Amino acid sequence: MPEIELNTGDRIPHACLICAPSAEAALQKAKELAAAAVCSGTGKKPCGICRDCRKVEAGVHPDVVTIGRLADDKGKKKQNITVDQIRELSADAVVLPNEAARKVYILDEAETMNPAAQNAALKLLEEPPAGVVFLLCATKPMQLLATVRSRCATVKLAGAEADAPSEEAQALASGYLKAVNTLDLAQLFRWCSQNEGIDAQTMAAFLG
Ligand SMILES: [Zn+2]
Repeated sequence: MPEIELNTGDRIPHACLICAPSAEAALQKAKELAAAAVCSGTGKKPCGICRDCRKVEAGVHPDVVTIGRLADDKGKKKQNITVDQIRELSADAVVLPNEAARKVYILDEAETMNPAAQNAALKLLEEPPAGVVFLLCATKPMQLLATVRSRCATVKLAGAEADAPSEEAQALASGYLKAVNTLDLAQLFRWCSQNEGIDAQTMAAFLG
């Protein structure tokens, strides 16, 4: 989907990917969009003064749910948002909202969903329950599956990571170039088998 200029007065698409330079900035924007989605004021949304807006601002609106990495026993954030969390979300998303006209789910650091969680999320984005809005926050959106990204309207905040190759991809590319430049086939084979799952035989055939 194309990148959109989202004025909060506009109708909010059912899924937005908020790309921001920091998790805090992404969450702040998500909160603003969530407030716009549930605002019960008249005129410009979010109005900032209705009961719904104030509840979102205070983080207590029952129809605005934030999901992020859980903490372990030591209070440290776990590495991933798990598939169980997304399944729980799916089950909750089909239940009617409590107070507002719709439900909003904010995924904090959405790119920390592990592959299973992303696939579960994809199903949800492909067939979203009526009236539900998903706001995916990310500082590294390229870590999300392309299929997940393509289901979302993108809201890009100033300073957000461009769609450039990730550092990881760049390191891979420079490693490859180094191997090619040395014309050291052994090194090139090693690189290929480590990074691409290509075996030396295939590579040799390829190189002719
Ligand atoms: Zn309002």
